[in-house]
Amino acid sequence: MSSDLVLLTRAADYAARQHIAQRRKGERAEPYVNHLTEVAALLAEATGGADVTLLMGGLLHDTLEDTDATYEDLEQRFGAEVAALVAEVTDDKSLPKDERKRLQIEKTAGKSRRAKLLKIADKTSNLRSMVNSPPAGWSEARLRDYVVWAEQVVRSCRGLNAALDRAFDVAHAEAKCRLG
Ligand code: ZN
Repeated sequence: MSSDLVLLTRAADYAARQHIAQRRKGERAEPYVNHLTEVAALLAEATGGADVTLLMGGLLHDTLEDTDATYEDLEQRFGAEVAALVAEVTDDKSLPKDERKRLQIEKTAGKSRRAKLLKIADKTSNLRSMVNSPPAGWSEARLRDYVVWAEQVVRSCRGLNAALDRAFDVAHAEAKCRLG
């Protein structure tokens, strides 16, 4: 079995390649990989880097939803645990967007500890982006709706890691403050 560092580096490389042509929705259009490394860094800081499966999940969390990667690809490259974690935080894209958003609020409470930690880090990164580089063309109302929704999702994952909860609270307060 490869060492943790080898697996983690491989996951970063794979995520960067899979998302190579993708940019964030914000006005600065940052490379998508910046979101993935931010999520992984948030998770690493909050947990002291103790759980490489979680960090690999952070790097790979959008590969099933947003790239041509399959569950089998992830399982073969990174093992069943990582593939299952990524699948757990992946929306069903066959459903309408509003339904997917509703399900995230409803289903997150029943997910694994790792999936919940990942959700908090993901929403923290997204809220930071809303402040630093709001999506072009989004109205104030749409931005505000997103901030409210992110907090509703995170509400059901809180209480597992104080540092991560705090990082989210800071990002959430700042987003609320900016949007009035
Ligand atoms: Zn994400």
